[in-house]
Amino acid sequence: MGKLTVEIKDYEYDVHIGEDAYSLFATAYAPLLDSADRIGIIVDENVAGLHLSLLQDALRKTGRDIVVKTVPAGESCKSPAVYIECQSFLLQHHFTRNSLLIAFGGGACGDLTGFVAATFMRGIRYIQCPTTILAHDSAVGGKTAINMPEGKNMVGSFHQPSGVLFQTGLFETLPAREIRSGMAELLKHAFISDKDWTDALLSNPTFSKPSVGWLATELLKGIEVKAHIVAEDEFEHSTRKFLNFGHTFGHAVEAVCGFGGLSHGECVMIGMAYSLILSEGQEGSIDQDVTERFIRFALDNGYTFRPVHEHTFEEFLSYMEKDKKASFGKLNFVLLKEVGKPYVTELSKEQCEHAFDIIRERTEGEPSR
Ligand code: NAD
Ligand code: ZN
Repeated sequence: MGKLTVEIKDYEYDVHIGEDAYSLFATAYAPLLDSADRIGIIVDENVAGLHLSLLQDALRKTGRDIVVKTVPAGESCKSPAVYIECQSFLLQHHFTRNSLLIAFGGGACGDLTGFVAATFMRGIRYIQCPTTILAHDSAVGGKTAINMPEGKNMVGSFHQPSGVLFQTGLFETLPAREIRSGMAELLKHAFISDKDWTDALLSNPTFSKPSVGWLATELLKGIEVKAHIVAEDEFEHSTRKFLNFGHTFGHAVEAVCGFGGLSHGECVMIGMAYSLILSEGQEGSIDQDVTERFIRFALDNGYTFRPVHEHTFEEFLSYMEKDKKASFGKLNFVLLKEVGKPYVTELSKEQCEHAFDIIRERTEGEPSR
């Protein structure tokens, strides 16, 4: 089983990834469970249908009585209404400051549970049991949030989990779209950290149908990148911003396409192509070949660039300007000096519009799927 320790100032926790990660509840995590007066699982309803019994079996070995709160699948669980429902659920079940939560689902359920844990009685402990590939990104680092009618992730906090357990067999039931989503974030971790690793991913013929064994080692590498950055900059004052590579434009695509048409990672893939194009014209030496290889790779693996042909630059711009990372009206981007060497810069609307024209040109004639 793969293991990695996330170290943040005076706090640390472990991330485990393997076929039998949940067996750790009866061993390494038994003292933590024993120390909690109440334990609750918050689970995504799809995941509950597919895998809840497996988690419950593993927890049964600890002899604890555990309550379960099922929440709507995916992004819809990150609403103020569901958040309040969860808080009431905990109060009705007599949870205290000494209780423990387990998040069981993708990044959405993890973000919700993390925020419930961060705010219930001013903060209780929680364990992340992520069930998507994308959650190798979201489950580590302690960012938690819910959405508001005005925007995504607008209310949240930093609250680190007590541990993260990936049971890899759960990835077997992921739909292709969610695999694409998670693999895009893995590629992001490669792009911001390591040229050779990026090359290896871009030449991997099974990228869109990864085996569970291969994923265990690759996701651990991605988590290592994230853990290293978070250890350096927990509250995103500096290097943590690198994790937003592909996200300024990616979030705009997500918003313009109305959240739900494409998955988060599919939008980030478009955003990464856009950032590579912006990087070509800046300091350093991202070669046009790098971008073109990336675009070809994306198309070969089932990603689409349709949104840039179906919407105008102004539509994307209005969302980029609203991005909470935009400061004083400037557009902030993470670009690459070269693959593996990210930096943050501010760009003008004109530069962004020029890159938009280029991404359109270079992705013209995409075969329709
Ligand atoms: P998700 O949680 O919305 O799950 C996607 C879909 O997959 C859902 O329909 C879910 O029911 C289903 N699903 C989950 N696990 C499954 C499994 N094993 N088998 C079959 N279906 C399964 O999506 P996600 O991509 O995991 O997470 C996206 C969320 O993560 C967004 O809300 C995003 O804001 C957040 N996020 C947070 C951070 C962070 O640092 N906190 C980082 C990146 C993303
Ligand atoms: Zn992301």
